[in-house]
Amino acid sequence: MSPEKSKTDCVFCKIINGEIPSKIVYQDEDVIAFVDINPITPVHLLIIPRKHITSLAAMSDAETPLVGKMVKAANKIAREKGISEKGYRLTINSGAEAGQVVQHLHMHFMGGRILRWDN
Ligand code: AMP
Ligand code: ZN
Repeated sequence: MSPEKSKTDCVFCKIINGEIPSKIVYQDEDVIAFVDINPITPVHLLIIPRKHITSLAAMSDAETPLVGKMVKAANKIAREKGISEKGYRLTINSGAEAGQVVQHLHMHFMGGRILRWDN
C-alpha cells in the first residue's frame, strides 16, 4: 500500500492492514466498519475509509463522496442489525474541540438503546 494511503503510526490503518485485531462487521473496497473498543451504546461501531484521511476538515473536495459511502455502509449495517426503523446515530468528530482522538476519519455508529442528545 502506498504511503499516502497507510500511515504506519495510525491505529486505524493498522486495523485495516490486520496488524491490530478488530471485530470487523462490514467491508468493501472503500470502507470498513468494526466494533468500537470502548462502546458507549449496545451497538457502537466505527465506519472508516480505507484511505488515510486525517479528519473531516482535511478532506479534499474529491474525497467527500467517501462520506456518502460511509453513510451507505451504515444504513446497510442498520438494516442487517434490525435497528433501521428503531433508530441510530451517526457522528463524526472533527478536530480537538469536537473530541476527535484518532487522526483517521471515522464515523461513529451508535444504537441499540434510546439515545439522549448528550448520549
Ligand atoms: P474519536 O474520539 O471520535 O476520535 O473516537 C475514537 C474512537 O476510537 C473511540 O470511541 C475509541 O474507543 C475508538 N478506538 C480507539 N482505538 C480502537 C481500537 N484499537 N479498536 C476499536 N476502537 C478503537
Ligand atoms: Zn490511518
